[in-house]
Amino acid sequence: MQEVYNATVTGKILLTQELMILRLRSDESRDEFKAGQFTQIGLLAAESRSAHSTVPIDELSDDFLIKRPYSIASAKTETRDFEFYISHVKSGQLTPRLFSLQQGNRMWIDDKIMGIFSLNDVPAKTNIVMIATGTGLAPYISFLRSHIADHPEINMAVIHGAANPWDLGYYSELTLLQKLFKNFHYFPTLLKADNSWTGLHGYIEQHLKAGLLEENGIENHPDKTHYFLCGNPKMVESVSSFLFEKKFTKNTKNSPGALHIEEY
Ligand SMILES: Cc1cc2nc3c(=O)[nH]c(=O)nc-3n(C[C@H](O)[C@H](O)[C@H](O)COP(=O)(O)OP(=O)(O)OC[C@H]3O[C@@H](n4cnc5c(N)ncnc54)[C@H](O)[C@@H]3O)c2cc1C
Repeated sequence: MQEVYNATVTGKILLTQELMILRLRSDESRDEFKAGQFTQIGLLAAESRSAHSTVPIDELSDDFLIKRPYSIASAKTETRDFEFYISHVKSGQLTPRLFSLQQGNRMWIDDKIMGIFSLNDVPAKTNIVMIATGTGLAPYISFLRSHIADHPEINMAVIHGAANPWDLGYYSELTLLQKLFKNFHYFPTLLKADNSWTGLHGYIEQHLKAGLLEENGIENHPDKTHYFLCGNPKMVESVSSFLFEKKFTKNTKNSPGALHIEEY
C-alpha cells in the first residue's frame, strides 16, 4: 500500500491527560502561511486509541484516513515544523489516536493551509485583543510568535479562559512576553481555581463588562481596537453580543469588520 503519511512527530508535551502540544515535521516544506490559519492533520483508523478514550459510535475501516482541521500555533515562517495545541475529545475519532502518538511516529498533514482568521485585515495603529477559551489560544500563539515585535505602537492583549491553572497552556511563554513587551497584556481567567490562584476568576465577558481592557489603555471602539474570538461557541456568542452592542461588526470575506471569529 502506498504510504499516506507525510510527516513525523517531533514532540509531544502532555499538559494534562486532556491537553497537549503536538509538534510534527512534514516531509516537504509548505508555502509561508498567515499566522492564525489552520491546516488538517490525520491518522489512519487502524492506529490505536488512547487509554482514556471511550469507544466511538461509528466503526471505521482500518485504511480510512481520519482528518480534522487544527489551528497552527507555530510561527508563519516555520513551513516544515508545525505545532498544534489539542484537546482530547474522548468519544472522538481523531484526538484519541493523536493522544496515543509517540515521538518518531508517522502521520498525515495536508499540503493546504487555509482560513481568513489572520491579522491581515487589521488596519495599522489598531489595538489587537485576542480572546480564547481552551485550545482556541493556538492561533494567537502564532500571531505573537510571528508579529509581536512588529507592533510596538499598539496595545495587544490575550484573554484566556480555562477551568484550572494546569489548563493554561503557554502560560510561561505568555507571561514572559508580558515581561518583555510593555504593550502586551496577558489575562488568564479561571472558572474552577481556588484562592491560591491570585489572577482573575470567572467568565471572560464579566471582565470585559467591568472595563478590564479600558483600565489597561485599550479603547473599546471599532476604530481603535480589533477583537479576535476563538474557542467555545457559548463564549463566542456572549462576547460577540457584548461587542455588537458597542457597534462592532463581524469581519467576513466580503465585509470588513473589527470582530474576527473562529469557532471550533
Ligand atoms: C478551523 C478549525 C480549527 C480547529 N483548531 C483546533 C485546535 O487548534 N485545537 C483543537 O483541539 N481543536 C481544534 N478544532 C477542532 C478539531 O477540528 C476537531 O473537531 C476536534 O479535535 C475533535 O476531533 P475528533 O475527531 O476527536 O472528534 P469527532 O470524531 O470529530 O467528534 C466526536 C464527537 O465529539 C463531539 N465533539 C467534537 N469536538 C468536541 C469538543 N472540543 N468538545 C466536546 N465534544 C466535542 C462531536 O460533536 C461529536 O459528537 C478546530 C476546528 C476547526 C473548524
